[in-house]
Amino acid sequence: MRSAAKTLQERSDGSLPSSTHQVLEKSAFNQQAMQQGLYLLSQHPSIYSGDLATAAMTLTSTAATMLCVDRVTLWIYEATERQLKQLDSYNRSKDKHSAGIVLTVESRTGEITDGRLTDCTDYLQGIDNRSPLTLENVSKAEAIPWLGNFIQNDLIFHTPGAFLEMPIRRQGKVAGVLWYELADAHCWSELEQSTALAIALLAATAIDSQQQQSLSALLANHSRQLKRETIEREQAEQAWQESQRFIQGIIDASTNILYVDSFADGSNFYISRWIKNVLGYEPSEVQKLGPRYLEQLVHADEKKYMATERSKLAAINDGEVVENEYRFRHRQGNWRWLLCRETVFQRDSEGQPTQVFGTATDITKHKHAEVALKEINQELSRLASMDGLTKVANRRSFDQYLEKEWENVGSGRSSLSLILCDIDYFKNYNDTYGHQAGDVCLRQVAQAIERAVKRSTDLVARYGGEEFAVVLPNTSVAGVEQVAREIQREIQQLEIPHSCSEISHCITVSLGIAAVSCTKGRHRDMLVAAADQGLYQAKYEGRDRFCLAKLEEV
Ligand code: GH3
Ligand code: MG
Ligand code: MG
Repeated sequence: MRSAAKTLQERSDGSLPSSTHQVLEKSAFNQQAMQQGLYLLSQHPSIYSGDLATAAMTLTSTAATMLCVDRVTLWIYEATERQLKQLDSYNRSKDKHSAGIVLTVESRTGEITDGRLTDCTDYLQGIDNRSPLTLENVSKAEAIPWLGNFIQNDLIFHTPGAFLEMPIRRQGKVAGVLWYELADAHCWSELEQSTALAIALLAATAIDSQQQQSLSALLANHSRQLKRETIEREQAEQAWQESQRFIQGIIDASTNILYVDSFADGSNFYISRWIKNVLGYEPSEVQKLGPRYLEQLVHADEKKYMATERSKLAAINDGEVVENEYRFRHRQGNWRWLLCRETVFQRDSEGQPTQVFGTATDITKHKHAEVALKEINQELSRLASMDGLTKVANRRSFDQYLEKEWENVGSGRSSLSLILCDIDYFKNYNDTYGHQAGDVCLRQVAQAIERAVKRSTDLVARYGGEEFAVVLPNTSVAGVEQVAREIQREIQQLEIPHSCSEISHCITVSLGIAAVSCTKGRHRDMLVAAADQGLYQAKYEGRDRFCLAKLEEV
Protein backbone atom coordinates (compact mmCIF):
# COMPACT_ATOMS: atom_id res chain seq x y z
CA MET A 1 0.00 0.00 0.00
CA ARG A 2 2.80 2.33 -0.97
CA SER A 3 0.59 4.61 -3.00
CA ALA A 4 -1.92 4.85 -0.19
CA ALA A 5 0.85 5.88 2.16
CA LYS A 6 2.10 8.36 -0.41
CA THR A 7 -1.40 9.84 -0.76
CA LEU A 8 -1.57 10.23 2.98
CA GLN A 9 1.83 11.88 2.97
CA GLU A 10 0.80 14.22 0.15
CA ARG A 11 -2.33 15.14 2.01
CA SER A 12 -0.75 15.66 5.37
CA ASP A 13 2.31 17.24 3.74
CA GLY A 14 4.56 15.30 6.08
CA SER A 15 2.35 15.54 9.15
CA LEU A 16 -0.73 13.72 10.31
CA PRO A 17 -4.03 15.68 9.93
CA SER A 18 -5.58 17.28 13.00
CA SER A 19 -8.46 14.86 13.08
CA THR A 20 -6.22 11.76 12.93
CA HIS A 21 -7.72 10.10 16.00
CA GLN A 22 -11.19 10.67 14.78
CA VAL A 23 -10.16 9.19 11.42
CA LEU A 24 -8.50 6.24 13.07
CA GLU A 25 -11.60 5.55 15.19
CA LYS A 26 -13.74 5.85 12.09
CA SER A 27 -11.26 3.61 10.29
CA ALA A 28 -11.64 0.94 12.92
CA PHE A 29 -15.36 1.08 12.44
CA ASN A 30 -14.97 1.23 8.64
CA GLN A 31 -12.52 -1.64 8.62
CA GLN A 32 -15.06 -3.85 10.30
CA ALA A 33 -17.80 -2.74 7.87
CA MET A 34 -15.48 -3.19 4.91
CA GLN A 35 -14.47 -6.69 6.05
CA GLN A 36 -18.09 -7.62 6.51
CA GLY A 37 -18.99 -6.10 3.11
CA LEU A 38 -16.12 -7.91 1.44
CA TYR A 39 -17.12 -11.15 3.14
CA LEU A 40 -20.69 -10.79 1.88
CA LEU A 41 -19.48 -9.83 -1.58
CA SER A 42 -17.15 -12.82 -1.68
CA GLN A 43 -20.16 -15.05 -0.90
CA HIS A 44 -22.28 -13.53 -3.64
CA PRO A 45 -23.26 -16.26 -6.12
CA SER A 46 -22.94 -14.00 -9.16
CA ILE A 47 -19.16 -13.91 -8.64
CA TYR A 48 -18.95 -17.65 -9.29
CA SER A 49 -21.85 -18.00 -11.69
CA GLY A 50 -19.82 -17.38 -14.83
CA ASP A 51 -22.29 -14.62 -15.74
CA LEU A 52 -19.75 -11.83 -15.83
CA ALA A 53 -22.23 -9.05 -16.68
CA THR A 54 -24.26 -9.76 -13.53
CA ALA A 55 -21.11 -10.20 -11.47
CA ALA A 56 -19.82 -6.84 -12.75
CA MET A 57 -23.04 -5.11 -11.71
CA THR A 58 -22.84 -6.68 -8.24
CA LEU A 59 -19.20 -5.70 -7.91
CA THR A 60 -19.59 -2.07 -9.05
CA SER A 61 -22.70 -1.32 -7.00
CA THR A 62 -21.33 -3.06 -3.86
CA ALA A 63 -17.95 -1.40 -4.24
CA ALA A 64 -19.57 2.04 -4.68
CA THR A 65 -21.61 1.53 -1.53
CA MET A 66 -18.77 0.09 0.54
CA LEU A 67 -16.29 2.80 -0.41
CA CYS A 68 -18.93 5.57 -0.52
CA VAL A 69 -17.76 6.66 -3.98
CA ASP A 70 -19.89 8.28 -6.66
CA ARG A 71 -19.01 5.96 -9.49
CA VAL A 72 -17.33 2.60 -9.96
CA THR A 73 -16.48 1.28 -13.43
CA LEU A 74 -15.25 -2.20 -14.31
CA TRP A 75 -13.28 -2.54 -17.53
CA ILE A 76 -12.23 -5.82 -19.08
CA TYR A 77 -9.07 -5.96 -21.12
CA GLU A 78 -9.07 -8.20 -24.17
CA ALA A 79 -5.42 -8.62 -25.04
CA THR A 80 -5.88 -10.22 -28.44
CA GLU A 81 -8.01 -7.32 -29.69
CA ARG A 82 -6.14 -4.78 -27.58
CA GLN A 83 -9.43 -3.41 -26.32
CA LEU A 84 -10.73 -2.30 -23.00
CA LYS A 85 -14.44 -2.97 -22.70
CA GLN A 86 -16.64 -1.22 -20.23
CA LEU A 87 -18.41 -4.11 -18.57
CA ASP A 88 -20.35 -2.02 -16.10
CA SER A 89 -20.32 1.50 -14.70
CA TYR A 90 -22.40 2.22 -11.61
CA ASN A 91 -23.40 5.75 -10.72
CA ARG A 92 -24.32 5.68 -7.04
CA SER A 93 -26.19 9.00 -6.85
CA LYS A 94 -28.36 8.07 -9.79
CA ASP A 95 -28.33 4.36 -8.83
CA LYS A 96 -27.79 3.63 -12.49
CA HIS A 97 -25.75 1.07 -14.37
CA SER A 98 -24.38 1.67 -17.85
CA ALA A 99 -22.04 -0.24 -20.15
CA GLY A 100 -20.82 -0.62 -23.68
CA ILE A 101 -17.93 1.78 -24.17
CA VAL A 102 -14.91 0.22 -25.84
CA LEU A 103 -11.46 1.71 -25.69
CA THR A 104 -9.27 0.85 -28.61
CA VAL A 105 -6.01 1.80 -30.34
CA GLU A 106 -7.48 1.78 -33.80
CA SER A 107 -7.34 5.50 -34.59
CA ARG A 108 -6.44 8.82 -33.00
CA THR A 109 -9.44 10.98 -33.67
CA GLY A 110 -9.94 11.58 -30.01
CA GLU A 111 -13.69 11.19 -30.34
CA ILE A 112 -16.11 8.67 -28.95
CA THR A 113 -17.76 7.11 -31.96
CA ASP A 114 -20.45 4.50 -31.48
CA GLY A 115 -19.43 3.99 -27.91
CA ARG A 116 -15.72 3.83 -28.65
CA LEU A 117 -13.09 6.15 -27.36
CA THR A 118 -10.53 5.73 -30.03
CA ASP A 119 -7.62 7.80 -28.85
CA CYS A 120 -6.45 5.76 -25.90
CA THR A 121 -3.33 4.24 -27.42
CA ASP A 122 -1.05 5.58 -24.70
CA TYR A 123 -3.28 4.21 -21.98
CA LEU A 124 -3.62 0.78 -23.57
CA GLN A 125 0.05 0.46 -24.47
CA GLY A 126 0.96 0.72 -20.84
CA ILE A 127 -1.85 -1.49 -19.58
CA ASP A 128 0.29 -4.55 -18.78
CA ASN A 129 2.45 -2.48 -16.46
CA ARG A 130 -0.38 -0.76 -14.67
CA SER A 131 -0.20 -0.54 -10.91
CA PRO A 132 -2.74 0.95 -8.53
CA LEU A 133 -3.14 4.65 -9.12
CA THR A 134 -4.66 7.13 -6.71
CA LEU A 135 -5.40 10.72 -7.51
CA GLU A 136 -6.62 12.91 -4.73
CA ASN A 137 -7.52 15.71 -7.08
CA VAL A 138 -7.91 14.97 -10.77
CA SER A 139 -7.77 18.61 -11.80
CA LYS A 140 -4.22 18.81 -10.43
CA ALA A 141 -2.96 15.72 -12.18
CA GLU A 142 -2.18 17.09 -15.62
CA ALA A 143 1.09 15.21 -15.98
CA ILE A 144 -0.78 12.05 -16.96
CA PRO A 145 -1.16 12.21 -20.74
CA TRP A 146 -4.25 10.05 -21.17
CA LEU A 147 -6.16 11.64 -18.36
CA GLY A 148 -7.06 14.82 -20.24
CA ASN A 149 -8.54 12.82 -23.04
CA PHE A 150 -10.62 10.70 -20.69
CA ILE A 151 -11.88 13.80 -18.83
CA GLN A 152 -12.69 15.49 -22.13
CA ASN A 153 -14.76 12.49 -23.10
CA ASP A 154 -16.58 12.41 -19.79
CA LEU A 155 -15.14 9.09 -18.78
CA ILE A 156 -13.60 10.46 -15.62
CA PHE A 157 -15.04 13.07 -13.22
CA HIS A 158 -13.15 16.33 -13.10
CA THR A 159 -12.92 19.52 -11.08
CA PRO A 160 -11.86 18.56 -8.61
CA GLY A 161 -12.72 14.81 -8.53
CA ALA A 162 -10.84 11.96 -6.90
CA PHE A 163 -9.79 8.89 -8.88
CA LEU A 164 -8.57 5.45 -7.84
CA GLU A 165 -7.59 2.89 -10.44
CA MET A 166 -7.02 -0.71 -9.40
CA PRO A 167 -5.76 -3.20 -12.00
CA ILE A 168 -7.38 -6.63 -12.04
CA ARG A 169 -4.74 -9.29 -12.48
CA ARG A 170 -5.07 -12.88 -13.58
CA GLN A 171 -2.04 -15.11 -13.75
CA GLY A 172 0.22 -12.09 -13.47
CA LYS A 173 -1.35 -10.24 -16.37
CA VAL A 174 -3.76 -7.34 -16.39
CA ALA A 175 -7.24 -8.63 -17.18
CA GLY A 176 -9.05 -5.37 -16.51
CA VAL A 177 -9.22 -2.29 -14.33
CA LEU A 178 -11.55 -0.95 -11.71
CA TRP A 179 -12.09 2.78 -11.46
CA TYR A 180 -13.35 4.33 -8.25
CA GLU A 181 -14.39 7.95 -8.59
CA LEU A 182 -15.60 10.76 -6.36
CA ALA A 183 -16.98 14.04 -7.61
CA ASP A 184 -14.97 15.87 -4.95
CA ALA A 185 -11.29 15.69 -4.09
CA HIS A 186 -10.55 12.91 -1.69
CA CYS A 187 -7.59 11.36 -0.05
CA TRP A 188 -7.77 7.58 -0.55
CA SER A 189 -7.12 5.77 2.71
CA GLU A 190 -5.12 2.58 2.99
CA LEU A 191 -8.28 0.76 3.99
CA GLU A 192 -10.05 2.06 0.90
CA GLN A 193 -7.18 1.01 -1.30
CA SER A 194 -7.04 -2.43 0.33
CA THR A 195 -10.77 -2.80 -0.15
CA ALA A 196 -10.46 -1.69 -3.76
CA LEU A 197 -7.72 -4.29 -4.20
CA ALA A 198 -9.87 -7.00 -2.56
CA ILE A 199 -12.74 -6.10 -4.88
CA ALA A 200 -10.35 -6.31 -7.84
CA LEU A 201 -9.40 -9.82 -6.65
CA LEU A 202 -13.07 -10.75 -6.53
CA ALA A 203 -13.46 -9.29 -10.05
CA ALA A 204 -10.58 -11.51 -11.16
CA THR A 205 -12.41 -14.46 -9.60
CA ALA A 206 -15.57 -13.51 -11.51
CA ILE A 207 -13.57 -13.31 -14.75
CA ASP A 208 -12.04 -16.72 -13.92
CA SER A 209 -15.51 -18.17 -13.35
CA GLN A 210 -16.69 -16.83 -16.63
CA GLN A 211 -13.65 -18.14 -18.45
CA GLN A 212 -13.97 -21.48 -16.71
CA GLN A 213 -17.63 -21.67 -17.58
CA SER A 214 -17.09 -20.77 -21.20
CA LEU A 215 -14.22 -23.24 -21.26
CA SER A 216 -16.33 -25.99 -19.75
CA ALA A 217 -19.19 -25.02 -22.06
CA LEU A 218 -16.74 -25.24 -24.94
CA LEU A 219 -15.47 -28.55 -23.60
CA ALA A 220 -18.99 -29.89 -23.11
CA ASN A 221 -19.90 -28.73 -26.58
CA HIS A 222 -16.78 -30.29 -27.96
CA SER A 223 -17.41 -33.56 -26.19
CA ARG A 224 -21.07 -33.49 -27.32
CA GLN A 225 -19.87 -32.96 -30.88
CA LEU A 226 -17.30 -35.72 -30.48
CA LYS A 227 -19.98 -38.01 -29.13
CA ARG A 228 -22.32 -37.09 -31.96
CA GLU A 229 -19.56 -37.64 -34.50
CA THR A 230 -18.70 -40.99 -32.89
CA ILE A 231 -22.35 -42.04 -33.03
CA GLU A 232 -22.62 -40.84 -36.62
CA ARG A 233 -19.42 -42.70 -37.54
CA GLU A 234 -20.68 -45.84 -35.83
CA GLN A 235 -24.02 -45.51 -37.60
CA ALA A 236 -22.28 -44.95 -40.94
CA GLU A 237 -20.03 -47.96 -40.28
CA GLN A 238 -23.06 -50.06 -39.36
CA ALA A 239 -24.95 -48.88 -42.45
CA TRP A 240 -21.91 -49.63 -44.60
CA GLN A 241 -21.59 -53.11 -43.11
CA GLU A 242 -25.30 -53.72 -43.62
CA SER A 243 -25.09 -52.60 -47.24
CA GLN A 244 -22.00 -54.82 -47.67
CA ARG A 245 -23.95 -57.77 -46.25
CA PHE A 246 -26.90 -56.88 -48.47
CA ILE A 247 -24.75 -56.74 -51.60
CA GLN A 248 -22.93 -59.95 -50.63
CA GLY A 249 -26.35 -61.55 -50.07
CA ILE A 250 -27.42 -60.59 -53.57
CA ILE A 251 -24.16 -61.87 -55.04
CA ASP A 252 -24.44 -65.14 -53.09
CA ALA A 253 -28.05 -65.59 -54.15
CA SER A 254 -27.14 -65.06 -57.79
CA THR A 255 -26.80 -68.17 -59.94
CA ASN A 256 -24.41 -66.23 -62.15
CA ILE A 257 -20.68 -65.88 -61.69
CA LEU A 258 -19.88 -62.22 -61.12
CA TYR A 259 -16.33 -61.05 -61.76
CA VAL A 260 -14.18 -57.93 -62.07
CA ASP A 261 -11.00 -58.19 -64.12
CA SER A 262 -8.12 -55.92 -65.03
CA PHE A 263 -8.58 -54.74 -68.59
CA ALA A 264 -4.83 -54.39 -69.09
CA ASP A 265 -3.68 -57.92 -68.26
CA GLY A 266 -6.91 -59.84 -67.73
CA SER A 267 -6.10 -60.77 -64.13
CA ASN A 268 -8.95 -61.15 -61.66
CA PHE A 269 -9.74 -58.67 -58.88
CA TYR A 270 -12.95 -60.30 -57.72
CA ILE A 271 -14.94 -63.41 -58.58
CA SER A 272 -18.05 -64.63 -56.79
CA ARG A 273 -18.27 -67.99 -55.00
CA TRP A 274 -20.65 -69.39 -57.65
CA ILE A 275 -17.55 -70.20 -59.75
CA LYS A 276 -17.08 -73.24 -57.49
CA ASN A 277 -20.51 -74.59 -58.51
CA VAL A 278 -19.86 -74.09 -62.20
CA LEU A 279 -16.18 -74.78 -62.82
CA GLY A 280 -15.16 -76.40 -59.51
CA TYR A 281 -12.58 -73.72 -58.60
CA GLU A 282 -12.41 -71.65 -55.41
CA PRO A 283 -12.29 -67.88 -56.10
CA SER A 284 -8.77 -67.77 -54.60
CA GLU A 285 -7.59 -70.49 -57.00
CA VAL A 286 -8.90 -68.50 -59.94
CA GLN A 287 -7.13 -65.38 -58.74
CA LYS A 288 -3.87 -67.33 -58.46
CA LEU A 289 -4.04 -68.12 -62.18
CA GLY A 290 -2.82 -64.56 -62.77
CA PRO A 291 -3.04 -62.62 -66.03
CA ARG A 292 -5.49 -63.75 -68.75
CA TYR A 293 -6.93 -66.41 -66.46
CA LEU A 294 -10.08 -66.73 -68.57
CA GLU A 295 -8.02 -67.52 -71.65
CA GLN A 296 -6.31 -70.24 -69.62
CA LEU A 297 -9.64 -71.87 -68.86
CA VAL A 298 -11.39 -71.37 -72.17
CA HIS A 299 -11.39 -74.01 -74.93
CA ALA A 300 -8.33 -73.85 -77.22
CA ASP A 301 -10.55 -73.18 -80.24
CA GLU A 302 -11.97 -70.07 -78.57
CA LYS A 303 -8.81 -68.48 -77.07
CA LYS A 304 -8.11 -66.22 -80.02
CA TYR A 305 -11.76 -65.32 -80.40
CA MET A 306 -11.98 -64.43 -76.72
CA ALA A 307 -8.96 -62.11 -76.96
CA THR A 308 -10.52 -60.34 -79.95
CA GLU A 309 -13.87 -59.98 -78.22
CA ARG A 310 -12.26 -58.58 -75.07
CA SER A 311 -10.35 -55.99 -77.05
CA LYS A 312 -13.73 -54.71 -78.29
CA LEU A 313 -14.38 -53.39 -74.78
CA ALA A 314 -11.90 -50.58 -75.46
CA ALA A 315 -14.29 -49.12 -78.01
CA ILE A 316 -17.66 -49.50 -76.30
CA ASN A 317 -19.60 -46.84 -74.45
CA ASP A 318 -20.67 -47.05 -70.82
CA GLY A 319 -23.66 -49.33 -70.42
CA GLU A 320 -22.92 -51.30 -73.58
CA VAL A 321 -22.35 -55.02 -73.23
CA VAL A 322 -20.20 -57.49 -75.14
CA GLU A 323 -21.91 -60.90 -75.08
CA ASN A 324 -20.35 -64.23 -76.03
CA GLU A 325 -20.66 -67.96 -75.43
CA TYR A 326 -17.50 -69.88 -74.58
CA ARG A 327 -16.57 -73.37 -73.47
CA PHE A 328 -14.62 -73.47 -70.21
CA ARG A 329 -12.78 -76.43 -68.75
CA HIS A 330 -14.19 -77.70 -65.45
CA ARG A 331 -11.64 -78.59 -62.80
CA GLN A 332 -12.49 -82.24 -63.43
CA GLY A 333 -11.80 -81.92 -67.15
CA ASN A 334 -15.27 -81.73 -68.71
CA TRP A 335 -16.45 -78.69 -70.63
CA ARG A 336 -19.07 -76.20 -69.56
CA TRP A 337 -20.71 -73.63 -71.80
CA LEU A 338 -20.83 -70.15 -70.27
CA LEU A 339 -22.60 -67.08 -71.54
CA CYS A 340 -20.30 -64.15 -70.69
CA ARG A 341 -21.70 -60.63 -70.65
CA GLU A 342 -19.01 -58.01 -70.12
CA THR A 343 -18.97 -54.25 -69.73
CA VAL A 344 -16.51 -51.53 -68.71
CA PHE A 345 -16.52 -51.15 -64.92
CA GLN A 346 -13.91 -48.43 -64.44
CA ARG A 347 -11.99 -46.04 -66.68
CA ASP A 348 -8.82 -43.98 -66.21
CA SER A 349 -8.68 -40.19 -66.49
CA GLU A 350 -8.39 -40.51 -70.28
CA GLY A 351 -11.49 -42.69 -70.49
CA GLN A 352 -9.59 -45.90 -71.22
CA PRO A 353 -11.05 -49.01 -69.53
CA THR A 354 -9.14 -50.18 -66.49
CA GLN A 355 -11.61 -52.73 -65.10
CA VAL A 356 -14.07 -55.07 -66.71
CA PHE A 357 -17.23 -56.28 -64.98
CA GLY A 358 -18.73 -59.53 -66.19
CA THR A 359 -21.42 -62.08 -65.47
CA ALA A 360 -21.08 -65.67 -66.59
CA THR A 361 -24.14 -67.89 -66.80
CA ASP A 362 -23.88 -71.64 -67.07
CA ILE A 363 -25.74 -72.52 -70.28
CA THR A 364 -24.34 -76.06 -70.63
CA LYS A 365 -27.72 -77.76 -70.21
CA HIS A 366 -29.28 -75.30 -72.57
CA LYS A 367 -26.48 -75.89 -75.09
CA HIS A 368 -26.82 -79.69 -74.85
CA ALA A 369 -30.56 -79.34 -75.29
CA GLU A 370 -29.92 -77.08 -78.28
CA VAL A 371 -27.62 -79.69 -79.89
CA ALA A 372 -30.15 -82.47 -79.18
CA LEU A 373 -32.91 -80.33 -80.63
CA LYS A 374 -30.83 -79.63 -83.71
CA GLU A 375 -30.23 -83.35 -84.19
CA ILE A 376 -33.92 -84.11 -83.70
CA ASN A 377 -34.84 -81.41 -86.18
CA GLN A 378 -32.34 -82.75 -88.68
CA GLU A 379 -33.75 -86.24 -88.23
CA LEU A 380 -37.29 -84.95 -88.51
CA SER A 381 -36.55 -83.09 -91.70
CA ARG A 382 -34.72 -86.14 -93.03
CA LEU A 383 -37.74 -88.27 -92.21
CA ALA A 384 -40.05 -85.67 -93.66
CA SER A 385 -38.15 -85.76 -96.90
CA MET A 386 -37.75 -89.53 -97.08
CA ASP A 387 -40.06 -92.23 -98.33
CA GLY A 388 -40.83 -94.51 -95.45
CA LEU A 389 -40.89 -97.75 -97.40
CA THR A 390 -37.96 -97.45 -99.76
CA LYS A 391 -35.82 -94.95 -97.75
CA VAL A 392 -35.13 -92.85 -100.79
CA ALA A 393 -36.36 -89.25 -101.12
CA ASN A 394 -40.12 -88.81 -101.21
CA ARG A 395 -42.25 -87.00 -103.72
CA ARG A 396 -42.14 -83.70 -101.82
CA SER A 397 -38.32 -83.72 -101.84
CA PHE A 398 -38.37 -84.60 -105.52
CA ASP A 399 -40.59 -81.60 -106.29
CA GLN A 400 -38.41 -79.21 -104.21
CA TYR A 401 -35.17 -80.53 -105.68
CA LEU A 402 -36.41 -80.38 -109.23
CA GLU A 403 -37.63 -76.83 -108.69
CA LYS A 404 -34.26 -75.80 -107.31
CA GLU A 405 -32.24 -77.46 -110.06
CA TRP A 406 -34.57 -76.10 -112.71
CA GLU A 407 -33.71 -72.59 -111.47
CA ASN A 408 -30.00 -73.44 -111.68
CA VAL A 409 -30.09 -74.56 -115.28
CA GLY A 410 -30.39 -71.01 -116.54
CA SER A 411 -30.22 -70.41 -120.23
CA GLY A 412 -28.01 -72.97 -121.91
CA ARG A 413 -25.10 -72.98 -119.47
CA SER A 414 -25.83 -76.48 -118.09
CA SER A 415 -28.33 -79.26 -118.65
CA LEU A 416 -30.75 -81.07 -116.36
CA SER A 417 -31.95 -84.61 -116.96
CA LEU A 418 -34.78 -86.64 -115.49
CA ILE A 419 -35.48 -90.38 -115.46
CA LEU A 420 -38.88 -91.84 -114.64
CA CYS A 421 -38.59 -95.50 -113.86
CA ASP A 422 -41.59 -97.89 -113.59
CA ILE A 423 -41.55 -101.56 -112.64
CA ASP A 424 -42.98 -103.74 -115.37
CA TYR A 425 -46.08 -105.80 -114.58
CA PHE A 426 -45.87 -104.99 -110.94
CA LYS A 427 -49.55 -105.50 -110.38
CA ASN A 428 -49.01 -109.08 -111.44
CA TYR A 429 -46.06 -109.32 -109.06
CA ASN A 430 -48.22 -108.27 -106.14
CA ASP A 431 -50.93 -110.62 -107.22
CA THR A 432 -48.48 -113.50 -107.49
CA TYR A 433 -46.16 -112.96 -104.52
CA GLY A 434 -48.33 -110.88 -102.25
CA HIS A 435 -48.21 -107.23 -101.21
CA GLN A 436 -45.47 -107.68 -98.62
CA ALA A 437 -43.15 -109.27 -101.16
CA GLY A 438 -44.08 -106.35 -103.41
CA ASP A 439 -42.85 -103.95 -100.72
CA VAL A 440 -39.57 -105.86 -100.41
CA CYS A 441 -39.19 -105.72 -104.15
CA LEU A 442 -39.82 -101.95 -104.14
CA ARG A 443 -37.07 -101.51 -101.56
CA GLN A 444 -34.60 -103.59 -103.56
CA VAL A 445 -35.37 -101.71 -106.75
CA ALA A 446 -34.90 -98.36 -104.96
CA GLN A 447 -31.50 -99.46 -103.65
CA ALA A 448 -30.50 -100.73 -107.07
CA ILE A 449 -31.36 -97.36 -108.61
CA GLU A 450 -29.32 -95.63 -105.92
CA ARG A 451 -26.35 -97.83 -106.68
CA ALA A 452 -26.62 -96.93 -110.34
CA VAL A 453 -26.59 -93.24 -109.58
CA LYS A 454 -23.03 -92.04 -108.83
CA ARG A 455 -23.08 -88.28 -108.37
CA SER A 456 -23.90 -86.75 -105.02
CA THR A 457 -25.98 -84.15 -106.80
CA ASP A 458 -28.22 -86.85 -108.32
CA LEU A 459 -31.45 -87.44 -106.41
CA VAL A 460 -33.34 -90.74 -106.38
CA ALA A 461 -36.96 -90.36 -105.27
CA ARG A 462 -40.07 -92.48 -105.08
CA TYR A 463 -42.32 -90.72 -107.52
CA GLY A 464 -45.38 -92.71 -106.57
CA GLY A 465 -46.50 -96.39 -106.34
CA GLU A 466 -43.90 -98.49 -108.15
CA GLU A 467 -42.49 -95.50 -109.98
CA PHE A 468 -39.15 -93.86 -109.20
CA ALA A 469 -37.62 -90.64 -110.45
CA VAL A 470 -33.99 -89.64 -110.74
CA VAL A 471 -33.04 -85.96 -111.03
CA LEU A 472 -29.61 -85.54 -112.63
CA PRO A 473 -28.26 -81.99 -112.67
CA ASN A 474 -25.52 -81.10 -115.16
CA THR A 475 -26.18 -84.29 -117.08
CA SER A 476 -26.42 -84.40 -120.86
CA VAL A 477 -28.51 -86.81 -122.94
CA ALA A 478 -25.51 -89.13 -123.31
CA GLY A 479 -25.00 -89.04 -119.60
CA VAL A 480 -28.60 -89.78 -118.70
CA GLU A 481 -28.75 -92.65 -121.19
CA GLN A 482 -25.71 -94.14 -119.51
CA VAL A 483 -27.38 -93.86 -116.08
CA ALA A 484 -30.57 -95.46 -117.51
CA ARG A 485 -28.52 -98.37 -118.79
CA GLU A 486 -26.79 -98.65 -115.43
CA ILE A 487 -30.18 -98.79 -113.64
CA GLN A 488 -31.34 -101.58 -115.93
CA ARG A 489 -28.12 -103.44 -115.29
CA GLU A 490 -28.41 -103.11 -111.49
CA ILE A 491 -32.02 -104.34 -111.59
CA GLN A 492 -31.09 -107.24 -113.78
CA GLN A 493 -28.43 -108.17 -111.26
CA LEU A 494 -31.12 -108.32 -108.55
CA GLU A 495 -32.65 -111.27 -110.39
CA ILE A 496 -35.93 -110.92 -108.56
CA PRO A 497 -38.10 -113.72 -109.90
CA HIS A 498 -41.28 -112.53 -111.62
CA SER A 499 -43.11 -115.53 -113.04
CA CYS A 500 -46.04 -113.47 -114.19
CA SER A 501 -44.10 -110.95 -116.21
CA GLU A 502 -44.96 -111.15 -119.81
CA ILE A 503 -41.47 -110.17 -120.97
CA SER A 504 -39.03 -111.73 -118.51
CA HIS A 505 -38.76 -114.25 -115.70
CA CYS A 506 -37.26 -111.54 -113.48
CA ILE A 507 -38.25 -108.05 -112.45
CA THR A 508 -37.56 -105.46 -115.16
CA VAL A 509 -38.15 -101.73 -115.40
CA SER A 510 -39.08 -99.33 -118.15
CA LEU A 511 -37.54 -95.86 -118.18
CA GLY A 512 -38.51 -92.61 -119.75
CA ILE A 513 -35.79 -90.02 -119.98
CA ALA A 514 -35.70 -86.34 -120.82
CA ALA A 515 -33.05 -83.65 -120.75
CA VAL A 516 -33.14 -79.87 -120.93
CA SER A 517 -30.38 -77.31 -121.39
CA CYS A 518 -32.49 -74.23 -121.90
CA THR A 519 -35.35 -73.52 -119.53
CA LYS A 520 -36.25 -70.17 -121.06
CA GLY A 521 -39.99 -70.04 -121.69
CA ARG A 522 -40.43 -73.49 -120.20
CA HIS A 523 -41.86 -74.90 -116.99
CA ARG A 524 -40.30 -77.80 -115.11
CA ASP A 525 -43.52 -79.81 -115.56
CA MET A 526 -42.58 -79.98 -119.22
CA LEU A 527 -39.48 -82.00 -118.30
CA VAL A 528 -41.60 -84.37 -116.21
CA ALA A 529 -44.13 -84.67 -119.02
CA ALA A 530 -41.37 -85.45 -121.52
CA ALA A 531 -39.90 -88.16 -119.25
CA ASP A 532 -43.41 -89.55 -118.77
CA GLN A 533 -43.82 -89.56 -122.51
CA GLY A 534 -40.51 -91.48 -122.80
CA LEU A 535 -41.79 -93.96 -120.20
CA TYR A 536 -45.04 -94.43 -122.06
CA GLN A 537 -43.00 -94.98 -125.23
CA ALA A 538 -40.82 -97.58 -123.47
CA LYS A 539 -43.90 -99.44 -122.26
CA TYR A 540 -45.41 -99.21 -125.66
CA GLU A 541 -42.30 -100.56 -127.38
CA GLY A 542 -42.35 -103.68 -125.20
CA ARG A 543 -41.00 -102.64 -121.75
CA ASP A 544 -37.56 -103.38 -120.17
CA ARG A 545 -35.99 -100.48 -122.03
CA PHE A 546 -35.51 -96.74 -121.93
CA CYS A 547 -36.81 -94.15 -124.30
CA LEU A 548 -35.72 -90.55 -124.68
CA ALA A 549 -38.46 -88.05 -125.23
CA LYS A 550 -37.96 -84.48 -126.39
CA LEU A 551 -39.49 -81.56 -124.56
CA GLU A 552 -42.36 -79.81 -126.15
CA GLU A 553 -41.14 -76.93 -128.34
CA VAL A 554 -41.89 -73.42 -127.12
P1 GH3 B 1 -46.96 -101.83 -116.25
O1 GH3 B 1 -45.94 -102.79 -116.75
O2 GH3 B 1 -47.82 -101.35 -117.33
O3 GH3 B 1 -46.45 -100.79 -115.41
O4 GH3 B 1 -47.92 -102.72 -115.40
P2 GH3 B 1 -48.13 -102.56 -113.86
O5 GH3 B 1 -48.88 -103.74 -113.33
O6 GH3 B 1 -46.87 -102.37 -113.15
O7 GH3 B 1 -48.97 -101.31 -113.78
P3 GH3 B 1 -50.08 -100.77 -112.82
O8 GH3 B 1 -49.97 -99.29 -112.70
O9 GH3 B 1 -51.39 -101.29 -113.34
O10 GH3 B 1 -49.83 -101.42 -111.43
C1 GH3 B 1 -49.04 -100.79 -110.46
C2 GH3 B 1 -49.12 -101.57 -109.28
O11 GH3 B 1 -48.16 -101.25 -108.30
C3 GH3 B 1 -50.43 -101.50 -108.62
C4 GH3 B 1 -50.16 -101.53 -107.15
O12 GH3 B 1 -50.74 -102.63 -106.51
C5 GH3 B 1 -48.67 -101.65 -107.06
N1 GH3 B 1 -48.19 -100.83 -106.04
C6 GH3 B 1 -48.22 -99.49 -106.00
N2 GH3 B 1 -47.66 -99.05 -104.81
C7 GH3 B 1 -47.29 -100.16 -104.12
C8 GH3 B 1 -46.70 -100.37 -102.85
O13 GH3 B 1 -46.37 -99.48 -102.10
N3 GH3 B 1 -46.48 -101.66 -102.51
C9 GH3 B 1 -46.82 -102.69 -103.26
N4 GH3 B 1 -46.57 -103.91 -102.84
N5 GH3 B 1 -47.38 -102.51 -104.42
C10 GH3 B 1 -47.63 -101.27 -104.88
MG1 MG C 1 -46.95 -97.53 -112.75
MG1 MG D 1 -45.61 -100.59 -113.59
